Amino acid sequence: MAKHTGFIEIRRKNAPYRPVHERLNDWLEIPHPLKEGEVQEQATRCMDCGIPFCHQGCPVHNIIPDFNDMVYEGRWHEALDILLATNNFPEFTGRICPAPCEASCVLSINEEPVAIKQIEVSIIDKGFAEGWIKPKPPEKRTGKKVAVIGSGPAGMACAEQLNRAGHLVTVFDKADKAGGLLIYGIPDFKMDKAVLQRRLDLMTAEGIQWQLNTHVGAPGHPSMAQLRQEYDAVVLTTGAEQPRDLNIPGRDLDGVHYAMDYLTQQNRRNLGLPVDGPDILARGKTVVIIGGGDTGSDCLGTSLRQGAVEVIQYEHKPPLPSKRPEYNPWPEWPMVFQKSTSHEEGGRLEYSMATKAFEGSNGKLERLRGVRVEIYFDETGQRFFREIPDSEFTIETQLVLISAGFTGPVRQGLLESLNPRMTRRGSIWTNQDKMTSVEGVFAAGDNVRGQSLVVWAIAEGRDAARGVDKYLTGKVRLPTAFSDQVAS
Ligand SMILES: Cc1cc2nc3c(=O)[nH]c(=O)nc-3n(C[C@H](O)[C@H](O)[C@H](O)COP(=O)(O)OP(=O)(O)OC[C@H]3O[C@@H](n4cnc5c(N)ncnc54)[C@H](O)[C@@H]3O)c2cc1C
Ligand code: SF4
Repeated sequence: MAKHTGFIEIRRKNAPYRPVHERLNDWLEIPHPLKEGEVQEQATRCMDCGIPFCHQGCPVHNIIPDFNDMVYEGRWHEALDILLATNNFPEFTGRICPAPCEASCVLSINEEPVAIKQIEVSIIDKGFAEGWIKPKPPEKRTGKKVAVIGSGPAGMACAEQLNRAGHLVTVFDKADKAGGLLIYGIPDFKMDKAVLQRRLDLMTAEGIQWQLNTHVGAPGHPSMAQLRQEYDAVVLTTGAEQPRDLNIPGRDLDGVHYAMDYLTQQNRRNLGLPVDGPDILARGKTVVIIGGGDTGSDCLGTSLRQGAVEVIQYEHKPPLPSKRPEYNPWPEWPMVFQKSTSHEEGGRLEYSMATKAFEGSNGKLERLRGVRVEIYFDETGQRFFREIPDSEFTIETQLVLISAGFTGPVRQGLLESLNPRMTRRGSIWTNQDKMTSVEGVFAAGDNVRGQSLVVWAIAEGRDAARGVDKYLTGKVRLPTAFSDQVAS
């Protein structure tokens, strides 16, 4: 701890956001970075706690007090080494992680937490700007070949770890570009796609091979049986792509779409790529987004940038409280209402609403019918939603985006043919080494956890790489998220 009184003297400072009127006219990232001196000042707020709860909150167990100390002292290169020891892609998490580390920072018991995410992104961005980050191909190859199916953050982290351990890795993806939800889900205003491409280029230079436009398990594409024969191990990092649908009257009307179809189209347009199917656009429309999570919020920001007349986002749950309730104490993740950058930009948020039907004419959506709902508990204590009598409503709308979450990995094709053990929640079961019930086949990321966070996908990918390496070599050589040490 470099400055004992830093946390008393210095207030937290966040990276300032560009004004709303400016950012609604472009797709660029929202924050202006803090200056180097300001980041160093923020790092002095760290108390170097005896028990650093920030570690416990961070899924990759970043060694936060140590890099804070290095930043304070201006030893940025050492800070970078500490950061990269636990996190393959701090340039992603430093931009889009909701920062569970900050929620569990000891300062946040009665103060604003250390600006850990801001410090993290400043370290890695400086690392790139200074040219410190270079491809690190392995010195020796093991002669083992691994297929990673799915190029999202879990697949990328797994591939990078395995490649550095000397295995020859090929990453397969059904999409035409690598990155999973980082490329075609998360909008550019949250993370510039150049940040992703820079990392993919590094990985390619390190020797990782990519086989895109390859839908494993689909007719005319490689089957799981083929890959298992050709590779020494296979890792499934296929995400949780099955969207939760609304099976209600009018679902097939033109104008009712899944959120992911909508977001993918806009990300492709920004990349100058053609879109699949007819354009889904919000310009001049009243848009209704059904679902209140990250995906819904990204649809809101996208609709506003596309020039929607009005955007209403609702969910069936009541709003979260503004302060931690007693049953949700520090250092747990706070179940409180948090405004996203999109919420600051416009739109109307509504709660306790359910959708009953979509209506229209000539096959086109014109309105939505819904009802207000409330929570009640039955005699066994189980929670249900029930309709509030006489609370029906109608919204005239030309575009509905269904953002009601994801039910797990897609079963059709790959999983059907492999038939691994699944959990009751519909995710792939794995043992502690991330091996599925099928010998030599591993799984990591959203297909194991359910739709989650980029930082969890990285943690899972690292753990799967360790499991695969142990399976192939009989030794524990790669770090775990828990020990962060390389055992021999
Ligand atoms: C709209 C949206 C916004 C989000 N925003 C955030 C955020 O701000 N911060 C955050 O931390 N998290 C966010 N998340 C969650 C985060 O993106 C995911 O948790 C994370 O991407 C999961 O990584 P993954 O590698 O497990 O899966 P994915 O990123 O889903 O990647 C899976 C990949 O597997 C490929 N694939 C699937 N099946 C096959 C097959 N049979 N053959 C070949 N390829 C296949 C897919 O094409 C895809 O590229 C968001 C999610 C969504 C949907
Ligand atoms: S919990 Fe907060 S104050 Fe304590 S070491 Fe971690 S970042 Fe620093």
